[in-house]
Amino acid sequence: MRRYSVFAIAREALRWHQGWERAWASPEPRARYDAIIVGAGGHGLATAYYLGKNHGITNVAVIEKGWLGGGNTGRNTTIIRSNYLQDPSAAIYEKARALYESLSQELNYNVMFSPRGLLMLAQTHHEVRGYLRTVHANALQGVQTEFIGPDRVRQLVPIIRLDGPRYPVLGALYQARGGTARHDAVAWGYARACSAMGMHILQNCPVTGVRSEGGRVTGVDTARGFIGCDKLGIVVAGHSGQLAEMAGFRLPVEAVALQALVSEPVKPCMDVVVMANTVHGYMSQSDKGEMVIGGGTDGFNNFTQRGSHQHIEETLRALIETFPMLSRLKMLRQWGGIVDMTGDRSPIIGKTPLGNCFINCGWGTGGFKAIPGSGWAMAELMARGEPGPLAAAFSLDRFREGRFIDESVAAGVAH
Ligand SMILES: Cc1cc2nc3c(=O)[nH]c(=O)nc-3n(C[C@H](O)[C@H](O)[C@H](O)COP(=O)(O)OP(=O)(O)OC[C@H]3O[C@@H](n4cnc5c(N)ncnc54)[C@H](O)[C@@H]3O)c2cc1C
Repeated sequence: MRRYSVFAIAREALRWHQGWERAWASPEPRARYDAIIVGAGGHGLATAYYLGKNHGITNVAVIEKGWLGGGNTGRNTTIIRSNYLQDPSAAIYEKARALYESLSQELNYNVMFSPRGLLMLAQTHHEVRGYLRTVHANALQGVQTEFIGPDRVRQLVPIIRLDGPRYPVLGALYQARGGTARHDAVAWGYARACSAMGMHILQNCPVTGVRSEGGRVTGVDTARGFIGCDKLGIVVAGHSGQLAEMAGFRLPVEAVALQALVSEPVKPCMDVVVMANTVHGYMSQSDKGEMVIGGGTDGFNNFTQRGSHQHIEETLRALIETFPMLSRLKMLRQWGGIVDMTGDRSPIIGKTPLGNCFINCGWGTGGFKAIPGSGWAMAELMARGEPGPLAAAFSLDRFREGRFIDESVAAGVAH
């Protein structure tokens, strides 16, 4: 595959852009692969990419029921940060954040990583104490964060109102290298790089069954027939329970819809990401000028990938006190994605009861930021059959053994 470069753009400009290749191939499936990954979201595609790049395994298929990146990866609000509390979480999210820094160069695809800075507002004394604790934990983990006072918050966010009657802004947990990236570009960049390594991305091809023999997976039934494999990775976010059921085991994961919305575009007014966990809302401004606003999860399990009126009302009511300018904005559109929630709000990356079948799920409301680190760790697990240091703590066993990685505070707002 030809590299994208300034020379390629110049060459194509001279011949009316007739020479660009397709970014990824749409091949016919082979009868068998060394590894099959179900789910062409960011996590599945990153797993395939690092299987090839780090472990030399390229006879790989990524099988997707819809279009690649059409799940949560293309529906999220793109926040990237690594200011988590527990050590295993900080390690994998910081690995991911660090990989994001050079991902565009690595993939030769502009993922528009924008480390513009991220603030988590402290609007109660309890939150101030909690975030000070996180800052200290992050210092020990090598994650750069700081607690900043209200004056610094105002400097960074001129449109904020600090002295709201119910929830004044008392400070913020600030991660200067947190930010955003273009979500679908992350999926497209990984897909292109996988295709360039000769991997197959099979779109519009739902997996309908998992076949096994003697405690090992032999392959999957799909809309395009049976496809055999030596190893299977299940990376389907909100549909993990369904795939696990096909494979004959159960997961401690619930599927719920998480919603977000964007406003009409306005002139640049906020060049950081702001999260307000107490009132539950968060916001950044897209390159087009829209205010990208994250809402909450539905209070009941469901598989509907759409928004509802009540979430617009609740989220905007929560944010308007701190950002009065929002009351003048029209909201353009809203949507939902099916997220996979675990009880401790941490992911699962581990072995399953089937010897050669591995699972990566439970990223819930916050897995976009983890894509490169998660793919790295899942590829290591699939290649070696054992988790490496990044994934070890996130095994499925932890729910049976009570080794929870409690991130309910760090994941307290849906981001
Ligand atoms: C509204 C919203 C806002 C969010 N905001 C943020 C944020 O700001 N920051 C952040 O870090 N995270 C955020 N998240 C969470 C983040 O989007 C997800 O954790 C992450 O994208 C999960 O990626 P994935 O690759 O695991 O799943 P997905 O991208 O959902 O990919 C899974 C794929 O599996 C496919 N699949 C399912 N069943 C089958 C089957 N039977 N056969 C074949 N394929 C199948 C699906 O079609 C899908 O494409 C948000 C999520 C939502 C919904």
